[in-house]
Amino acid sequence: MAITATEDPPATAPFGAAARLSCRECGETYDLGPRFACEFCFGPLQVAYDFPAITREQIAAGPNSMWRYAPLLPVPADVASKPNLNPGFTKLIDAGNLGRELGIRSLHIKDDSGNPTHSFKDRVVAVALEAARNFGYTTLSCSSTGNLAGAVTAAAARAGLRACVFIPAGLEQGKVVMASVYGGDVVALEGTYDEVNRFCTELIGDGAAEDWGFVNVNLRTFYGEGSKTLAFEIAEQLGWRLPEQMIIPIASGAQLTKIDKGFQELIKLGLVEERPYKIFGAQATGCSPVATAWKAGHEVVKPVKPDTIAKSLAIGNPADGPYVLDICKRTGGAVEDVSDPEIVDAIKLLARTEGVFAETAGGVTVGVLRKLLAAGVLDPEAETVVLNTGDGLKTLDAVGGGPTATIRPSLDEFRKAGLV
Ligand SMILES: *Cc1c(COP(=O)(O)O)cnc(C)c1O
Ligand SMILES: [Zn+2]
Repeated sequence: MAITATEDPPATAPFGAAARLSCRECGETYDLGPRFACEFCFGPLQVAYDFPAITREQIAAGPNSMWRYAPLLPVPADVASKPNLNPGFTKLIDAGNLGRELGIRSLHIKDDSGNPTHSFKDRVVAVALEAARNFGYTTLSCSSTGNLAGAVTAAAARAGLRACVFIPAGLEQGKVVMASVYGGDVVALEGTYDEVNRFCTELIGDGAAEDWGFVNVNLRTFYGEGSKTLAFEIAEQLGWRLPEQMIIPIASGAQLTKIDKGFQELIKLGLVEERPYKIFGAQATGCSPVATAWKAGHEVVKPVKPDTIAKSLAIGNPADGPYVLDICKRTGGAVEDVSDPEIVDAIKLLARTEGVFAETAGGVTVGVLRKLLAAGVLDPEAETVVLNTGDGLKTLDAVGGGPTATIRPSLDEFRKAGLV
């Protein structure tokens, strides 16, 4: 990654300080464009920048959204004034109650359920939307495990673009309804997410959807950059400090790899002091190809067929799996998985201790926090941040529950119920 301080980019630069795309595998560079794979080695591409010098004060003076970090993203300087959902700058919650219960001294939950469509996907879509505008796409699309579909249809509605999104049939009702309400087309395909994703790649190759921007396929290189804002916010909200331990859910692994990229950029820009941090990846046992590879000491990830309540993380063939393994190894972290009952227990634990209702992906990270603390893998003295990436209201069926008692409105009956 080439990072050098230069003059500020012109205010009109459509991609801000982003200068080129570079191949993660062979380093080949390309002009900024809707490319997602290297022509030479088929490796994934990433955005490289000629960053301007930037201070903490300049960032803090920016908007209360992810656009405070616009100078560190492939977006124009005036991005906040364009019609978009202005996601980000969600709460970093001091989770002292949960920490005391689990025996860890400094614990925070980064609660991304606070985004406009209630998941972290609004961040990645916001950056992909700018790329779509720059490339002149008129339809916004994606293959989704649920949350992305709603983030895309909502962003397209606000931006005045058409949306047509693809999901596997059988997703949670909360996610399907949410994706449908914004007026775009939602197509359920009979198959797994991995089959939906393959279908989208075929659709692009076929040329049938020439003016379509698939946020996580042909715009994936830009999309990924949106996740860096989680790293930036966590560091800023900790008082411009990197956390010592991070627990991040893994679906395709894009979010985890870009949070690491974000931390590295903050260090190189001198916005935080370099200190060691460990990244821990979290999966559901019913879809744990990366955790399985980690435990076996493999460098490649063998695809699986998902079967878990954590549908937002149900990607059996994660594109960034090998990079996740690299990052967890390099930072001294690990990859762990938890079963569906452990996920439900963890959702209830977080709700009971902190008043935060997480979706199943949040149950996965909190469950892995609990498991790795019990196993002595996490340091209970280290400053730790756990991600909650989505809202429990979208995955109600996973938790169930109902009233403690259903009675007639009479004092006598209430006394009999034994609650006073
Ligand atoms: C998409 C998603 C993730 C992680 O996705 P990656 O593909 O690994 O970037 C995590 N949590 C939720 C709730 C999601 O919807
Ligand atoms: Zn390459």
